[in-house]
Amino acid sequence: MLVLVDLDDTLCNTWEAGKYTILRLIPFLLKRRKFKAFFYILTARYRELEQSRELHMMDLDKIVERLLRKIYVGISPGELDEIQELVDRVFFSNLKLFPDTVPFLEGLRGMGARIVLVTDSSTRWQRKKLEYLGIKDYFDALIISGETGHSKLDPHNFRLARQLFPHEDEVYMVGDRDDTDMRGGKEIGAVTILVSRGYFKGRLAKHADYVVKDLMEALEVIRREHEKRAEA
Ligand SMILES: [Mg+2]
Repeated sequence: MLVLVDLDDTLCNTWEAGKYTILRLIPFLLKRRKFKAFFYILTARYRELEQSRELHMMDLDKIVERLLRKIYVGISPGELDEIQELVDRVFFSNLKLFPDTVPFLEGLRGMGARIVLVTDSSTRWQRKKLEYLGIKDYFDALIISGETGHSKLDPHNFRLARQLFPHEDEVYMVGDRDDTDMRGGKEIGAVTILVSRGYFKGRLAKHADYVVKDLMEALEVIRREHEKRAEA
């Protein structure tokens, strides 16, 4: 059994931690009279970033830097450093595993599953999250967009994960986003399980075989599917 798992908003509260970070940035920007950046946040124009392939391979701090440079051409390196430090500190102090993450990973291990993390963003940022969250050893392999050069908007990283374990004929994909995790899972013939939480909660799920509310339900789906196959 091969289970591909997404990280952000599937195993940990990235969106929530990111939201706190952005909220914490607001008083900082206002104090420095950075009103344009403030309005960018206020009007949720960051949604335009969702489909950017390049940004899927970047860290939150790099994204903030990119935006600030776009809005303020002459921003000073000192000011950027100060903002990066704030972003890093607030983000990591708010980042947490969901309570069902470890029981889920333990449950998969108990079923003898190979577990591969398939995640967007840069190497440094994603490895730091794994280190910080203490779950790195659960994975048989890590596939990170910043390392492969392909975001999850392409099927490439899912194919890569599949090729690592060619003899596993039972494949699952668990994630929170339909147009990346679920679509990518379908590309390699996986049973796709959408965990409905985080930033993308409530969006239309076109590529999901199952929509569940948490990882315990996802584990239950995998267990049932596995038993069904064993009987067949
Ligand atoms: Mg995600």
